[in-house]
Amino acid sequence: MKTKTSDQKPFDVAVIGAGIIGVSCALQLSERGLSVIVIDRYPPCEGASFGNAGVISPWSCVPQSVPGLWRKLPKWFFDPLGPIVIRKRHILPFLPWAIRFFAAGKANKVESIGDAMIALSSQSPSNYRALLAGEPEIELLKDSSYIFAYKHPKQANLDHFGWQMRQKRNVPLNVISAGELQEREPDISKAYQAAIIIHGQARALNPSAIGKAIAKKARTLGVHFVLAETKAITQREQSWTVHCQDQQYLANKTVLAAGVWSASLLRPFGIYLPLEAERGYHLLCEDPGIHINNSIMDVERMCVASQMVSGVRIAGTAEFAGIEAAPDNRRAFAFEKSLKTMFPSINTGKAKPWMGRRPTFPDSLPCIGAIEGLHNLYAAFGHSHYGLSQAPKTGQIIADCITNKQVDVDLTPYKTDRFT
Ligand SMILES: Cc1cc2nc3c(=O)[nH]c(=O)nc-3n(C[C@H](O)[C@H](O)[C@H](O)COP(=O)(O)OP(=O)(O)OC[C@H]3O[C@@H](n4cnc5c(N)ncnc54)[C@H](O)[C@@H]3O)c2cc1C
Repeated sequence: MKTKTSDQKPFDVAVIGAGIIGVSCALQLSERGLSVIVIDRYPPCEGASFGNAGVISPWSCVPQSVPGLWRKLPKWFFDPLGPIVIRKRHILPFLPWAIRFFAAGKANKVESIGDAMIALSSQSPSNYRALLAGEPEIELLKDSSYIFAYKHPKQANLDHFGWQMRQKRNVPLNVISAGELQEREPDISKAYQAAIIIHGQARALNPSAIGKAIAKKARTLGVHFVLAETKAITQREQSWTVHCQDQQYLANKTVLAAGVWSASLLRPFGIYLPLEAERGYHLLCEDPGIHINNSIMDVERMCVASQMVSGVRIAGTAEFAGIEAAPDNRRAFAFEKSLKTMFPSINTGKAKPWMGRRPTFPDSLPCIGAIEGLHNLYAAFGHSHYGLSQAPKTGQIIADCITNKQVDVDLTPYKTDRFT
């Protein structure tokens, strides 16, 4: 590869990817006194981390695959704009992932997955406040509850599997009546007759701006941000070379935080990971004419509505179509109906669509930590539906691993070689 080598001495750490995971790693590495370079083809938090639903949950412990899920699938699959879709061309490549996905949802697996999930998010609101200390963007974090809204009181049933999982882990939650729901959310339709509320959460009023603020703070500590695409990484004795279009960068240690694109950078080393692009959409309504006080999930339609600085955002759905397929914005505009059902007086006249790729493994867990067999290369990718909530802890774990500090969680569930 004929590229110029940076004339700087090797960085202590190169982080590939400036999504919320990459910037959280970079800030915490630089706070430990290391020299850090972050390489991304776009400015910070323009990928999946740009347009998520903003839920910062310390209580995320229910994976996507749970016992009995298959019963709901036929209903979803026949609706092309429904909560889950697999594009025809992607069915064959998707099948091996789907088999692993259902295997991960067996009753004997989900409890340990739930424990591994909550270990990554349990302190997330306070961890964000620590990362954003001194930055004005700390105001973009709001204490919040997470409301799961139902049309029929019988549906708000704490005996269901996911609610049992949360209760076993002492998640602070309870059923609320239609009256209490109206009090908390005056603009929600009276058609919603009950809800389950999870307390003690936070929400982001602009997830991308929070990530950019973390990047800005990292920059003030000396982190070097480079706008470039990483074409390959190669090992050089104990260290790494990151090859970009016109330049290559040397680093003693490298962190792969490139979201759903991370798996392709590992293939030259014979590592094939079942990482799918679980594409989600949002619709952002400017001047909505209503206000939402919490994160609200319409359980029937599986989408989350939330107040952002710039309007009301509704986000969700899963589309499996490969990484690079063009967005199908009809999926985003289908949220208009959901919004009008939830908030009858909402103005959707100024609505903008967006699509992002959740990096999703079949067991809903990310890969975090040293990559087996590749000395000084670290994984920080695959955070699926939970990356905003799990980013601060992921950054702390990576900083602990790289500075040889005792890591305070068992890293076994997040090992890269768990799929072999
Ligand atoms: C619709 C939707 C709603 C969601 N809601 C929530 C929520 O409410 N709460 C929550 O916790 N999570 C939520 N998530 C999940 C969360 O957004 C993701 O888990 C998280 O953003 C993943 O962050 P990341 O940094 O790994 O990936 P990304 O944000 O995608 O960042 C990866 C970065 O790597 C860069 N990159 C990739 N390859 C290369 C390369 N070769 N060279 C240079 N740069 C490269 C990309 O440009 C990108 O900037 C949601 C996701 C979606 C799609």
